[in-house]
Amino acid sequence: MHREYKDCEIVFDLLPLYLDGKTNSESNAYVTAHLKSCENCRQTFSFMQKDFGEFSVKQSVSPVKKRGKISRTKLLLICVLGLYIFGLAGFIVWFFCATALPVL
Ligand SMILES: [Zn+2]
Repeated sequence: MHREYKDCEIVFDLLPLYLDGKTNSESNAYVTAHLKSCENCRQTFSFMQKDFGEFSVKQSVSPVKKRGKISRTKLLLICVLGLYIFGLAGFIVWFFCATALPVL
């Protein structure tokens, strides 16, 4: 029982790093194994996950927020690209008209 408590302390120390994905593979395996066997730490972990959700790499806490951000950037890119292509097409038409007219 005492040994388990010590494990919990170590895992508790490692959890923030574990969430950030900054632990090495050995620590990762240790934390994962402990989380499987310890209900207490699992609860602490899920609680931390909610707190760290925004910064966590692999957790699917905010996929909607992320998607919204991407689509807004995409929309802006499409607008700029569309305007650019439209302007370029207009310029090409104008260029051919302007250069073709005197010849005809
Ligand atoms: Zn524990």
